[in-house]
Amino acid sequence: MCGFEKIIGQTQPISILTTLHQNGNVPHALLFIGNEGIGKHTTADIFAMLCNCLGNVNDNLTVSKQKITDGTHATLARNPYNPCGVCRVCRKIKSGSHPDIIRIKPSGQVIKIEQIRDLCLVIALKPYTAKLRVVIIDNAQTMNPAAANALLKVLEEPPDRTVFILIAENRRDLLPTITSRCQPIRFHPIPLQHIKEMLMIKKNISSEKAAVLAAMSHGSFAKAMSLLENDWLNRRNLLLGAIWPDSLNSPTLQSPAMILALSARFSREKNNINELLDGIKSWLRDLLIFRYCPEKIINYDLTDKIRYLSEKNTIGTLLAKLEAVQTAQKKIQANANLRLTLDSLFIRLIR
Ligand SMILES: [Zn+2]
Repeated sequence: MCGFEKIIGQTQPISILTTLHQNGNVPHALLFIGNEGIGKHTTADIFAMLCNCLGNVNDNLTVSKQKITDGTHATLARNPYNPCGVCRVCRKIKSGSHPDIIRIKPSGQVIKIEQIRDLCLVIALKPYTAKLRVVIIDNAQTMNPAAANALLKVLEEPPDRTVFILIAENRRDLLPTITSRCQPIRFHPIPLQHIKEMLMIKKNISSEKAAVLAAMSHGSFAKAMSLLENDWLNRRNLLLGAIWPDSLNSPTLQSPAMILALSARFSREKNNINELLDGIKSWLRDLLIFRYCPEKIINYDLTDKIRYLSEKNTIGTLLAKLEAVQTAQKKIQANANLRLTLDSLFIRLIR
């Protein structure tokens, strides 16, 4: 699969993009909005291929027919709005080596003015070979004010044969002066049932586990896969088992020494700690809502334990613990000492 068919659950944005291309009506700037991991980047890459593909049936039906005859472009024959994926240009774009497909990413936490200035120097020249040069600005909301204003000047007088694709989670995170110059394309979260079924089919995991991962994915199949590959379920079980042992008559399981050892272990996993703390939040949320809407819990595989513990904890206690996890996440985001933050959080949670 090399075309739009590999993007799951985004029929509407893909339909808008292919129609724009088919009508020769691609605007100077597009804004892809939606959660992380639902296909915005892949769509941008495939759209860049579609706009520049040498085997595109929309540009030349004769070329297309020849390619279909030799069997190499069967997919192209089925969907005329896909790039061929195998021509010289498609291959270059796929490998990230096409000189006219320019990608800007944050340098550290922000996109700096120097990056936009460098971009301006490049786009002042004509594209090298592309029919349509594509500038993809990832995490566009991280542009600092100077960078955003420099980009605004470019969007006010866009260069020929160039389309800008800004990618962000929320439109409101960008300057209104920038968003007003872009055509917004909204990407929607993938239905959870769909993610669950794909996990079961592709990864051969149980319905229960797939349901938990899907519920934690926020509609992103990429996120669900990342949780699976990072062994999130087992790490969640380890942490929940230590903080909320199955039998509350086993105080030794909750000994501070054991909790601190766990904190030491998890403090070595800085890249994965946020999703683990998200797991604790989902757990506390489940304990809170179980008595009102048991069908809406996330950790389906632990229903018996949730039923038992939701009766043992008051709403006030659970809300206070939820707040403690949120505070710890903010501290970690602000680069507080991970070990100390986890120590105090875990001790707080076992009380
Ligand atoms: Zn191609």
